[in-house]
Amino acid sequence: MLEAAHAVKRSGATFLRGGAFKPRTSPYEFQGLGEQALKFLALAREATGLKVVTEVMDADDLAMIAEYADVLQVGARNMQNFSLLRKVGALKKPILLKRGPSATIKEFLMAAEYVLAGGNYQVALCERGIRTFETMTRNTLDLNAVPVLKSLTHLPVVVDPSHGIGLRKHVPAMARAGIAAGADGLIVEVHPCPEKALSDGHQSLAIPEFAALMEQVRVIAGAIGRPM
Ligand code: PEP
Ligand code: MN
Repeated sequence: MLEAAHAVKRSGATFLRGGAFKPRTSPYEFQGLGEQALKFLALAREATGLKVVTEVMDADDLAMIAEYADVLQVGARNMQNFSLLRKVGALKKPILLKRGPSATIKEFLMAAEYVLAGGNYQVALCERGIRTFETMTRNTLDLNAVPVLKSLTHLPVVVDPSHGIGLRKHVPAMARAGIAAGADGLIVEVHPCPEKALSDGHQSLAIPEFAALMEQVRVIAGAIGRPM
């Protein structure tokens, strides 16, 4: 965790996102380390100054997670968990809301609306890929959503190329495309040794790959008048 945190910070990352409670497709896969992982994230924040983003899957864990996290992620699978949305809407913490794999842009916006309607106006929208007929990639990163969301709302739009395409070698291309399309931020999965990752290693960048990507992103952001 610390190795990853120091490395991404050196390359210019401003947040550290790690899953302590993981929504895994199979119950037999690594489920996250729970509160222990939140402590690791807090240590990494202390060591680097990076703000911590982590997912809340269950409202029962909300108070505990909110003690450690700077930003709470509501994952794709929970995008329409309306009772959870209402509960995070009652908090004073920023929410990173991921688009459901089969949600329309309108449904995505209405999910964000649940949080705003509760009085929490700090919501970032994350496009993370939708499910289509395509099988060569994990999801289809819907970059159409970026300019459409930007035109319909003032909320920041973040692109997740890691889940969006799901293939390490193609993540940088989609990250660059996300920034070119007007995204306000990226979330990119990074691991010091992706082959050993307990979750999503096949789509995690090694540290040098992330460093190279950040250089490219800096150039693209500058070219469209949004210097980093
Ligand atoms: C994640 O962000 O690691 C994750 C599980 O993503 P999603 O909710 O978009 O599937
Ligand atoms: Mn993941």
